Order: sequence, then C-alpha cells, then structure tokens
Amino acid sequence: MLSATQAPVAKPRLSRKTMAAFGVAAAVGIESAAVLRKGYRPAGDVIVQCRAGHRFTTLWIPGASLKAVRLGFVRFQRCPVARHWSIVKPVRADSLSEEEQASARAVHDRRLP
Ligand SMILES: [Zn+2]
Repeated sequence: MLSATQAPVAKPRLSRKTMAAFGVAAAVGIESAAVLRKGYRPAGDVIVQCRAGHRFTTLWIPGASLKAVRLGFVRFQRCPVARHWSIVKPVRADSLSEEEQASARAVHDRRLP
C-alpha cells in the first residue's frame, strides 16, 4: 500500500504544451474577432495611425508581430512618416477620403525588420 507521500499525483489531462497552444489560438481568435467587429481588415496591409496623426500602411497579422510590440489592439512600432516610435492603431479605411487612403497607402513601413 502506498503511503500519503508515495501516492501517485494526478497528471493534468492536457500537457502544458497543449494548453499553451490553446492559449495562443484563443488569443489570435479574440484579436481577429475584435478587429472584424470594429470593421477593420482582419489581416494584411492595414492603414494605421500613430499618436502624432501620421497615417501609413503596415502588415498586420493577428497574433504575430515581427517588428512591433503588441499592446492588445494597438502596437508600439516605428512610424515611417516622421521616423519616430509611437503607439499605432488601425484606422478604418472607409472613414478616410480616397485622397487620405491614397496618401496612407503610399507610405508603407518595411516588410521585415
Ligand atoms: Zn508618426
């Protein structure tokens, strides 16, 4: 018979790796849903605006950031317009005039760091 100190410990049903994978998938799903609910493109080239009001286009992939620090729905990344670091957030393209969209799409940050 096993004593209390030798009793087998119940293993969790899911491994830590599996739980982590579910966590990442849930985070990506939540971010994608939030982006869609707010009317933004879910991924790809997205028009964003920095805190100084500069608009440019950046690659936005829910759950992935190669060149930015993610802060939920906003990111901290380099603004290519004034070449400074700033909080940027997506801008709904339909809230901009065609001229504003064209000027925002004319400036794209680098594809990769
Ligand atoms: Zn800026």
